[in-house]
Amino acid sequence: DTIGANLDRAVAAFGDREALVDIPSGRRWTYAEFGAAVDEVARGLLAKGVAKGDRVGIWAVNCPEWVLVQYATARIGAILVNINPAYRAHELEYVLKQAGVSLLIASQTHKSSDYRVLVEQVRGACPDLRETIYIGDASWEALTAAGKEVTSDQLAAAQAELSCDDPINIQYTSGTTGFPKGATLSHHNILNNGYWVGRTIGYTEQDRVCIPVPYYHCFGMVMGNLAATSHGACMVIPAPSFEPRATLEAVQQERCTSLYGVPTMFIAELNLPDFASYDLSSLRTGIMAGSPCPVEVMKRVITEMHMEEVSICYGMTETSPVSLQTRMDDDLEHRTATVGRVLPHIEVKIVDPATGVTQPRGTAGELCTRGYSVMLGYWNEPDKTAEAIDRGRWMHTGDLAVMREDGYVEIVGRIKDMIIRGGENIYPREIEEFLYGHPKIRDVQVVGVPHETYGEEVLACVIPRDPADPPSLEELRAFCTDRLAHYKIPSRLEILDSFPMTVSGKVRKVELRKRYSA
Ligand code: ATP
Ligand code: MG
Repeated sequence: DTIGANLDRAVAAFGDREALVDIPSGRRWTYAEFGAAVDEVARGLLAKGVAKGDRVGIWAVNCPEWVLVQYATARIGAILVNINPAYRAHELEYVLKQAGVSLLIASQTHKSSDYRVLVEQVRGACPDLRETIYIGDASWEALTAAGKEVTSDQLAAAQAELSCDDPINIQYTSGTTGFPKGATLSHHNILNNGYWVGRTIGYTEQDRVCIPVPYYHCFGMVMGNLAATSHGACMVIPAPSFEPRATLEAVQQERCTSLYGVPTMFIAELNLPDFASYDLSSLRTGIMAGSPCPVEVMKRVITEMHMEEVSICYGMTETSPVSLQTRMDDDLEHRTATVGRVLPHIEVKIVDPATGVTQPRGTAGELCTRGYSVMLGYWNEPDKTAEAIDRGRWMHTGDLAVMREDGYVEIVGRIKDMIIRGGENIYPREIEEFLYGHPKIRDVQVVGVPHETYGEEVLACVIPRDPADPPSLEELRAFCTDRLAHYKIPSRLEILDSFPMTVSGKVRKVELRKRYSA
């Protein structure tokens, strides 16, 4: 199916059920209304001269128009280019040029960003950019008004041109390890992936999914929107960007059954002083993904947020994103120590990064994935594509993993984050897990920094529970002694009040490494 055809089926099957709720504005759409609103935007795009294969940029915080534009571009085969709303002018310019965006749809303002000012700064340098439409102002009204001249036949004709394997989306990777790369994805890639992610956690038209994760990233638009609409569930937008309170309020008010987040978001929610005052009893499931989840956090999510069926997903932008996922009935051990088993119709293997030889179960190596979910390639970067996807169509993830005898996979860390101290390989994740158990530690990241004799040494960056009473290095070392091998025990400590993050909520370890490498 194309995404448009799949939406038509949802509209036919679930017409009067709710499809989309926007908490900040109080607006709501049933599936019938949502389908009509998508068509209105699709017609508007056709009236603006947007054709199959043209790149339409979306540079906006979470809002209903983001979702409408997502489905409208897919409906007419235009390629949606997701642009991170935190980007500044030079990053925006890079993406607009790199993807050859001809029409840009943007937020007006958010927090300290005035998007009009930033667009004006780069417009001269982006010759492909014909027009910018701002959500919620006259230019947005003009878009939908222009669509009135486009007939249903013209829209149907545009849809008839499409194939499931056409590119319809360029998503830039999070930029955790370097400069973001533009993964090019088809209907087939992301619609199937959304469907399987939703099916694995049992979505039906009874489900209401709270999506506080950013839409510009696959977590929001695929695992959120496409997973919901391909099963008739409802999408709930709690706020334009993540706020722990607004998220819990949305769950409570809309009786959401599912809640998404990266681990740091769940940590922020659980640590709200008035956390216990929210009624979260409607929750049954949710997805935690993007980075490793500490066991303690998972336990609290299951018991205190009632998310007994919460699922852990592992994936990357380049693979639509999800390839491994825990099942609803997996036990706590499997839902914390592993990222589950491979999804249907996807293959995984774990290879020795040096030789490419498949490792036996139980041995760490680079995780590789293959199947419908692997991207078409990086947009206009054939060399990078060839580095990532080998001739056998295997995607090399850059992540280190172990497959257990029972087929469950543990993510051990990123190849790039591995610390090599005096010839010993150290996986920061293991030390982080351990340090979470320290009563004075709220959050911790472990990175390798240069050391004269050992090559690298272990640095623990700690956010203390009580800023007035942070742990000392001696306390940390005493806590680790006899419980961690000596070479894994941190030899440096930095106390912080926050970590450098990507907008999708991942800690930028590269930045921590750089900061403390002097
Ligand atoms: P870039 O590729 O630009 O450096 P990125 O890899 O963080 O950034 P994404 O595609 O958003 O960009 O993230 C994919 C990565 O996130 C995976 O390669 C993996 O390292 C990490 N990841 C995703 N899910 C999990 C998980 N459940 N547990 C551990 N790590 C995860
Ligand atoms: Mg990556």
